Amino acid sequence: MTARTYEVRTYGCQMNVHDSERLSGLLENAGYVRAPDAELADVVVFNTCAVRENADNRLYGNLGHLAPAKKAHPAMQIAVGGCLAQKDRGEIIRRAPWVDVVFGTHNIGSLPALLERARHNDEAQVEILESLEVFPSTLPTRRESPYAAWVSISVGCNNTCTFCIVPALRGTEKDRRPGDVLAEVEALVAEGVLEVTLLGQNVNSYGVEFGDRQAFGKLLRACGGIDGLERVRFTSPHPKDFTDDVIAAMSETPNVMHSLHMPLQSGSDVVLRAMRRSYRQERYLGIIDRVRAAMPDAAITTDIIVGFPGETEDDFAQTLEVVRAARFAGAFTFQYSPRPGTPAAQMDGQVPKQVVQERYERLAALQDDIAWAENMSQVGRVLDVLVAEGEGRKDGATHRLSGRAPDNRLVHFSLPADAAPPRPGDVVTVEVTYAAPHHLVADGAYGGVRRTRAGDAWELRSGRAPDVPAAGVLLGMPTVGAPSVGSAADACG
Ligand code: SF4
Repeated sequence: MTARTYEVRTYGCQMNVHDSERLSGLLENAGYVRAPDAELADVVVFNTCAVRENADNRLYGNLGHLAPAKKAHPAMQIAVGGCLAQKDRGEIIRRAPWVDVVFGTHNIGSLPALLERARHNDEAQVEILESLEVFPSTLPTRRESPYAAWVSISVGCNNTCTFCIVPALRGTEKDRRPGDVLAEVEALVAEGVLEVTLLGQNVNSYGVEFGDRQAFGKLLRACGGIDGLERVRFTSPHPKDFTDDVIAAMSETPNVMHSLHMPLQSGSDVVLRAMRRSYRQERYLGIIDRVRAAMPDAAITTDIIVGFPGETEDDFAQTLEVVRAARFAGAFTFQYSPRPGTPAAQMDGQVPKQVVQERYERLAALQDDIAWAENMSQVGRVLDVLVAEGEGRKDGATHRLSGRAPDNRLVHFSLPADAAPPRPGDVVTVEVTYAAPHHLVADGAYGGVRRTRAGDAWELRSGRAPDVPAAGVLLGMPTVGAPSVGSAADACG
């Protein structure tokens, strides 16, 4: 019997991307195989997001597109999980009765059993739990990248930001024990991974559940002791809980990268209060000052929401002020729009759309200027770039590969004619010659390639030699992980 095929369609944040790796791992453990590209799978899983604007319309639209296929292939199964499933529950089956399984954020491990039960009983299965049964990291995972991995240190959030639906859908914060986190990181490194990103809605409150307020800094230092682990990153920190021991751990642990993505959301104290973000402008800028004092080369990025209810022109001017002072290397900027189920959706003072749009454009223009100036300060630097898969680009006649600098800046580089092409996961040494607002170009001196175990793992997994950029080939666009501008209030942390 041929194995049933699957496809996971992911919406939303890094948490969901990582959860989707687990969903794939679970399905492969249960005997499913990934469907070839452009082929309709026997099982289609939607891992949904409730934060993005019009998320529900989009989901029901996508489900509607699959209805004829399901009718033509009755053995096909459709499953819906993630935050929107946790929120809408049985409503999904009511609006799309051809869906077979609905599961929530707390029981992703049940997916194979629910699919089996739905098939056996010929009846849709809806299973939503109110709290976490098993920490998801104990589930099998099919990682997308052989050289970089997400590692969850906590799930859920104890904050109550008024624009955010996450606490209602993911529950309060649950922390993994440091020993479990480190064991997972060590296992990943043994498989060839050289970069990990520690993941939590608020990494700075890590440890609150087991009574150690300095647990996150200690975890960073412990990662520093893992042989073969070259790059450690984390997301997202919260300015309310950000303490100096974390800055010290970052600056004193060589494999912790000098990059920090710290959500600002607004520069106005009045708006921060209305958002229930319990830090103020002064505290935020104070953290930035201390980070820069300890790590002058740190690249700091952020999230900003424009047009939160009640935001006046003066409040917005405060945000611009902070942006000028902070000199972010990049920012995800979002136009506020109400999300059902959040307190902010009920607030007075919703800002008219054209006002939000106009402020958003002013902010984006200012931030672009700053990012460009910050990137120009990198010209002439020699950087170690971790080569990425699918991030190359063609600029006119020049074909470039791409990767990430230690501070997470996106770098496009070209190879000398006689150079052996690096593999994704290898590290090249290049000189930056040009800066754009959202990336660097390194066409200067080429310091060669360091082949890594991560590159070996990529070659083993892909079963092919590295791509040599050929004339006319566009390797992809530089989008992954690059702070940029967005259009919805979907910022967390
Ligand atoms: S925005 Fe982030 S910190 Fe605030 S409630 Fe949502 S997940 Fe928690």
